[in-house]
Amino acid sequence: MFVAELRCAICGRSYTPDEVAYTCPHCGPAGVLDVLYDIKALRAAVSREDIARSADTTLWRYRPLLPLAAADRVPPLAVGGTPLYDAPRLAADLGLAQVWVKDDGRNPTGSLKDRASAVVVARALAQGIEVVTTASTGNAAAALAGLAASVGLLAVIFVPASAPEAKIAQLLTYGAHVLLVQGNYDNAFDLAVEAAERYGWYNRNTGMNPYTVEGKKTVAYEIAEQLGWQAPDVVVLSVGDGNIISGVHKGFSDLLALGWIGHMPRLIGVQADGSAACYQAWKTGADPATMPPIASHTVADSIAADLPRDRVRAVRAVRETGGAFVSVPDDAILAGIPVLARLSGVFAEPAAAATYAGARAALAEGHIQPDERVVLLVTGNGLKDIKSAMRVAGAGHPVAPDIVAVEKVRQALGLPTFR
Ligand SMILES: *Cc1c(COP(=O)(O)O)cnc(C)c1O
Ligand SMILES: [Zn+2]
Repeated sequence: MFVAELRCAICGRSYTPDEVAYTCPHCGPAGVLDVLYDIKALRAAVSREDIARSADTTLWRYRPLLPLAAADRVPPLAVGGTPLYDAPRLAADLGLAQVWVKDDGRNPTGSLKDRASAVVVARALAQGIEVVTTASTGNAAAALAGLAASVGLLAVIFVPASAPEAKIAQLLTYGAHVLLVQGNYDNAFDLAVEAAERYGWYNRNTGMNPYTVEGKKTVAYEIAEQLGWQAPDVVVLSVGDGNIISGVHKGFSDLLALGWIGHMPRLIGVQADGSAACYQAWKTGADPATMPPIASHTVADSIAADLPRDRVRAVRAVRETGGAFVSVPDDAILAGIPVLARLSGVFAEPAAAATYAGARAALAEGHIQPDERVVLLVTGNGLKDIKSAMRVAGAGHPVAPDIVAVEKVRQALGLPTFR
């Protein structure tokens, strides 16, 4: 494996992978560790052509760029390899030259979180740890439960009791032990930390386990490869804890260091007005490491976080790529669900559909230019939260079981005929 060191995003101290399991001992919970590779050795060992020749269409296609030894076992579920759709009608609607939709709702448990959990489960297997745990607003938990089930590991999940039903249904069905925390995500997070420490379980907590980003970065690899190693100008994605945006930044950074892409895309982080800590830190120039929590309230449960756990790297991702954060209201997030679905065919959960409202806001605020090539990253499947979709999807038309009634509805709707 080509991992050279784990380096603290705050103080820059360097550790070996055997030395530290989670965050920087010197900086505490905010001191997330970047997994850095021996780029020179990687360059000598693997090329874009080697990747192109791989018959593997999952994220393991990029295995030399992942923190696994050659003999390490990986879970069998087909994570990654999700489609990147050219979406000309969506582009026209937004007033953009070129828009692609990366549909990561197509992953085995329905969200991009599968990428992180796949790598974390592989790391657990490599260490011989049989119990994995995490706190989650839902998707990370479903992903860990599914990936753990695929290899027979035990998963213990801490979720807020208020998590959407579909996500809890996934956990239970996969056979995870589900602890419904009477509190919010942040309470669940702290409990998972304590339990993992006390019982020796392997903790996937976002913004704590260094390897989640290593899984999530593969979405950037795929976008680059799917575009013929021409990075887009802009990637728009939603931000809760800030781990996905950190992963996307890491992915493009790796490719740039390897010389596989020519430029770094600007990253536009979309937050909900009711959960906008990273946006605030970026806008005011505050130090994200020391900012206080802000109570979060949003319909987009997957991006609700009082104190985003990976805020230091999320703000860094936006600052270093010359991107921006935007903040959008819940009604715009919801309104984006049917627009995205109707103009691209991709059904997204609220947090994922927020990229549509976010792209609009970013255009209006001058963070995206109309002639740019833009990727909207859809992070989660619409079936994850049908209650939210039903609030904005419209209603069906009751009809008596005869064609006369159908004809009335047809006329009322102005549906065309072809004979
Ligand atoms: C987790 C998640 C996000 C946000 O990712 P963070 O790493 O928490 O910023 C966005 N959309 C969906 C669907 C998610 O599950
Ligand atoms: Zn540190």
